Amino acid sequence: MDKKKKIPKQSQSQPGKEYLMNPKPKIIRNDYKGSGKLKNKIALITGGDSGIGRSIAVHFAREGAKIAIVYLKEDKDANNTKELVEAEGAECKIIEGDLRNADFCKKVVEQCIKEFAGLNIVVNNAAMQFPKDSLSEIDDAQLEKTFETNIYTYFRVTKAALEYLREKDCIINTSSVTAYRGSEHLIDYSSTKGAIVSFTRALAKNLAKKNIRVNGVAPGPIWTPLIPATFNDVSDFGKDTPMGRPGQPCEVAPAYVFLASEDSSYITGQFIHINGGEIVGS
Ligand code: NAD
Ligand code: MG
Repeated sequence: MDKKKKIPKQSQSQPGKEYLMNPKPKIIRNDYKGSGKLKNKIALITGGDSGIGRSIAVHFAREGAKIAIVYLKEDKDANNTKELVEAEGAECKIIEGDLRNADFCKKVVEQCIKEFAGLNIVVNNAAMQFPKDSLSEIDDAQLEKTFETNIYTYFRVTKAALEYLREKDCIINTSSVTAYRGSEHLIDYSSTKGAIVSFTRALAKNLAKKNIRVNGVAPGPIWTPLIPATFNDVSDFGKDTPMGRPGQPCEVAPAYVFLASEDSSYITGQFIHINGGEIVGS
């Protein structure tokens, strides 16, 4: 969600609203055919109300999974996601709350277990960003908020989930292209996204013998509520990628299906780069 050479908005303290976006993000291709790749699996998706998380929820549902999503405040977006998941013939539990609260991270896992009697796929995807022009403008409150939201929650939700995950289950973490090439206006955010890469690699090694795989996706500029909520001018968002346009959530979520399914059974500790062609280090 980097946006270069634009004056950033001042701190965004609320998530964006997908229902107000124009144009609307594309959630799933009409011709995307599910083939039962996630049949009977139970997936917990943080930040699943909107954007990339919503698209993951709908793709997973089309592939046969039951879905629990966690979100902050945006009830309308979350209920829309629930309807979209149910339209795929899947069950959807929506859980509202602030994952910066450590107890809530445990509670969401417990609620998922209570609802579906299991958990197989954890998608850590919630995040916020507060663009600033310089390091000196990032005060301690922002620093803590960014790290608490973007990386502490990944540790805590995963830790709670590990009590229930078994062989062949998996964890998928959303990082960002900014982890790999930095972002001048998102210094704290980029740092958390780098931490997510290292967290993924370290945990993948730690869990490999249990055959629980841990991978991630590193998106480039994707059209989601975070973007208009964060940047003043979105007119050339994504135009500086080799493909010359932003990506849509429906171009990102299929990678999560791949990483969640048996198709990626020999892949762990890796990231898929979905960024319109920018070459970044592994
Ligand atoms: P989004 O705003 O639609 O999704 C983020 C969601 O995180 C929010 O809807 C909100 O419900 C949730 N969230 C934030 N803080 C939370 C908290 N404290 N407790 C509970 N939930 C909280 O935006 P998105 O672009 O779909 O973001 C999804 C992921 O993709 C993020 O990890 C983001 O960093 C990453 N990403 C996005 C882009 C991009 O260009 N959109 C690029 C790279 C990476
Ligand atoms: Mg949202």
